[in-house]
Amino acid sequence: MSGKIAVVGSNMVDLITYTDRMPAPGETIEAPRFEMGCGGKGANQAIAAARLGADVMMLTKVGDDIFADNTIRNFETSGIDTRFVERVPGTSSGVAPIFVEPSGENSILIVKGANALLSPADVDRAAEALKQCDLIVMQLEVPLETVYHTIAFGAAHGIETLLNPAPAAPDLDPARIEQVTFFVPNQTELATITGLPVTSEAEAETAARTLVARGIRTVIVTLGARGALLVTAGEATRRIEPVRVTPVDTTGAGDAFIGSFARYYVETHDLDASLHKAVRYAADSITRPGTQKSYATREAFEAFCA
Ligand code: ATP
Repeated sequence: MSGKIAVVGSNMVDLITYTDRMPAPGETIEAPRFEMGCGGKGANQAIAAARLGADVMMLTKVGDDIFADNTIRNFETSGIDTRFVERVPGTSSGVAPIFVEPSGENSILIVKGANALLSPADVDRAAEALKQCDLIVMQLEVPLETVYHTIAFGAAHGIETLLNPAPAAPDLDPARIEQVTFFVPNQTELATITGLPVTSEAEAETAARTLVARGIRTVIVTLGARGALLVTAGEATRRIEPVRVTPVDTTGAGDAFIGSFARYYVETHDLDASLHKAVRYAADSITRPGTQKSYATREAFEAFCA
């Protein structure tokens, strides 16, 4: 297996309470069930790539609490390089208290904690290790300045970069991401960054073309159950057909898509083949509940593809 991936991004611990109803202000009620899970877009993408056998390094920050131990153990169990997972004294780890009501309705609070402290200086400290990587993958749950700095770092050192602009950030400056190699939004994120409507495939293509016209080399738009679009400068738009499955839980499909794309791309440098793998891996993940726990190992994924 050749090719090394670095993920410069977030980690969170999901604290999921299943409740019959949400308490009113000032009220205390009992809830029947609680579950804890590892999450955060950066961590999810790193875990998906690592489960598929990729060599992955994670650059992220955790607090000095028990959630940090949990997160680091989770990375280590998947064989992820944690040399640049830094514990920050006096800070909480990123956590996401999630409340799920019987209707399936979710109410989510995100506490970024140590993720908010990942800085351009942290990227510079990891420079020598990052230079050994073939692809650097980012999302937007860490400060924008760190994302812009990492894209510039990749461009300066000839390392390909991928930005998944999630969660949608209206303040993302298109001029500061032009050097990214792959820009991978979903429809909402594409609409937010371009200010254009993205409710159909045709609108997704038009919006993606505005980014390509600005200088972004390759835009890959994920379209949920409709698969994905590949929009590249000077080439006709290509559609990556979806795989038909019966969805059980679509949470984390986008992260499964990106982690698996990264893994196959660094190995093959074949864009189309890697995207075909990514729609399959993401589709497989939504046939099981949960986020990271729904991500298949390489053996299980090969069986799904057979
Ligand atoms: P999420 O926020 O749920 O993680 P997302 O909004 O970032 O997802 P989507 O565009 O919904 O990303 O999905 C990512 C990829 O997952 C799609 O490009 C597609 O390949 C696959 N996918 C998602 N939903 C379905 C579905 N219902 N059937 C088949 N494939 C799906």
